[in-house]
Amino acid sequence: MITRSREAVAAVLKADPRQIIFTSGGTESDNLAIKGVASSYSNRGKHIITTAIEHPAVLNACRDLEREGFEVTYLPVDREGVIQVEDLEEALREDTILVSTMYVNNEIGSVQPLLEIAKVIKKAKTTGKLPLWHVDAVQALGRLPLFPAETGIDLVSLSAHKVHGPKGIGALYVGKGVTLRPQIAGGGQEGDLRSGTENVPGIAGFGAAAGELNKAGGKAAEHMAALRRMLVEGVMESIPGCRLNGPPPGSPYAAPHIANISFKGIRGEVLLHWLEGEGIYASTGSACSSRKHVGNGVLKALGLREEEAQGALRFSFSPDNGVEQVETVLRKLKEGVKELRNFA
Ligand SMILES: *Cc1c(COP(=O)(O)O)cnc(C)c1O
Repeated sequence: MITRSREAVAAVLKADPRQIIFTSGGTESDNLAIKGVASSYSNRGKHIITTAIEHPAVLNACRDLEREGFEVTYLPVDREGVIQVEDLEEALREDTILVSTMYVNNEIGSVQPLLEIAKVIKKAKTTGKLPLWHVDAVQALGRLPLFPAETGIDLVSLSAHKVHGPKGIGALYVGKGVTLRPQIAGGGQEGDLRSGTENVPGIAGFGAAAGELNKAGGKAAEHMAALRRMLVEGVMESIPGCRLNGPPPGSPYAAPHIANISFKGIRGEVLLHWLEGEGIYASTGSACSSRKHVGNGVLKALGLREEEAQGALRFSFSPDNGVEQVETVLRKLKEGVKELRNFA
């Protein structure tokens, strides 16, 4: 079962199954990649580059390393949540051992320009610099093309529950020639990189979800992008005082399945609960963070004012959503926003 699941996950990435390490989820994969590289390559340097809008698993792993004497550069993003590759080029140093850039942002759905980043890193490698490249692709799996060997990515974090698999299981793709110091010591399972008796039911579930992705072959993305466009354009046309946080529909930097919208004069949390009463489930900020009442770092990095950030809601789509559902959401949103603005 483990072997078959590993093959299915590897197939999504066109990778060798031996390059797939099962972990307890995206969070552990991010930690293993970042801390594993840091402790294996610290003799080559102690500088890491990442972006200002990473998932807390990446940001807090980097903060841990800062406390241990590593230096981290956080690349800024533009108003749509995309880094400038020139900033990366400038930030790269002789002692940069790792670049960690997410593929799709979980809160606003911005897509980082992996092919351009690849060129910069490739060039740095030819001039004798090390930088290994880690991509948190948890939100991109099955949504966007993701072929690490072709692109030159060394490490890729994945999680099953973002693609209809079970919670508590993930994977790390480890490219050829990459040495990682394991973060969990023990009996040497998963190629000595992640000890502990395997979570077989989780792995089987991830394998089944990956099998579905392989069957769908990327068709779902088009469908979700059409739904996203319908929602975003519908909101902009029919509800005044709204702002899309992230790239507009049709942009090459827009993921197909996430739309983040600020509603002026309304607290996102209040609208969220109003929608919940109608059987519509969206989210404020990151659903992955259990800590409430912390300012939204991603929206602030886009340059949003506090009030705009507070009025933000995230809508996400699955391949199973349909046009009628978006119609319902639009109708209910119009109603809810009007009602709540009357109270304000
Ligand atoms: C959900 C998510 C994670 C964490 O994955 P878990 O399996 O929930 O630990 C990491 N990065 C991104 C971008 C995510 O969306």
